[in-house]
Amino acid sequence: MLRKQELERYERQILLPEWLKSGQQKLKKAKVLVAGAGGLGSAILTYLAVAGVGRIKIIDGDRVELSNLNRQMLHSDKDIGRDKVDSAKERLEALNPDISIEAIKATINENNVFSLVADYMIVDAMDNLPTRLLLNRVAVKKNLPLFHGAIYGFEGRATTVIPGKTACLRCLYQGVIPGKIPVVGVTPAIIGCIQATEVIKYILGIGELLADRLLIYDGLSMKFSEVKLKKDPNCPECK
Ligand SMILES: [Zn+2]
Repeated sequence: MLRKQELERYERQILLPEWLKSGQQKLKKAKVLVAGAGGLGSAILTYLAVAGVGRIKIIDGDRVELSNLNRQMLHSDKDIGRDKVDSAKERLEALNPDISIEAIKATINENNVFSLVADYMIVDAMDNLPTRLLLNRVAVKKNLPLFHGAIYGFEGRATTVIPGKTACLRCLYQGVIPGKIPVVGVTPAIIGCIQATEVIKYILGIGELLADRLLIYDGLSMKFSEVKLKKDPNCPECK
């Protein structure tokens, strides 16, 4: 049941005929893991928290650095040197004390990824391909949705993986993506908000997901385009 305070907090979204109190209850019951509390994670976590996703798990192994602050707006100048999961949790709890936030300081690897994910739906807010592919493997094995987003400078992309139905990340990425990439703060905010929108739609069971669709955003030309994705019949993860 939703308490009086929750009905008031979420009043404007409950007004939507696709949402209603029943949708808000679904969000309250949902469990979402956000892997990465950086630029993408800042936008994703903020909007999932204020929307009322009931249980959010944040995983990040890094500390806040000055060079993060052009885009990672969950963290402030005073947080430099703190664990990102701690400053993220503090900020999110201040935004919405009606939800539960679990902060885990960890670097995701082959040994811990299965237990970290547990039965949470997965939002990929990472900055490196090997970890993204590990999350993808767990999503496919455990039949959990994976919400992918990636950025480079003014460009970004997003897709939603539904195991058993859509292409997986491994079908999409065979090459390598460079390490330290240039980022303009607005780009992860835009892509992260797209990922958060996908999560909310998935939980509510409404709209059309980015299933087998890679959405590509170019901030300089201010154009969105889309590429149709296909399962790779030889994919080592999802065939
Ligand atoms: Zn695949």
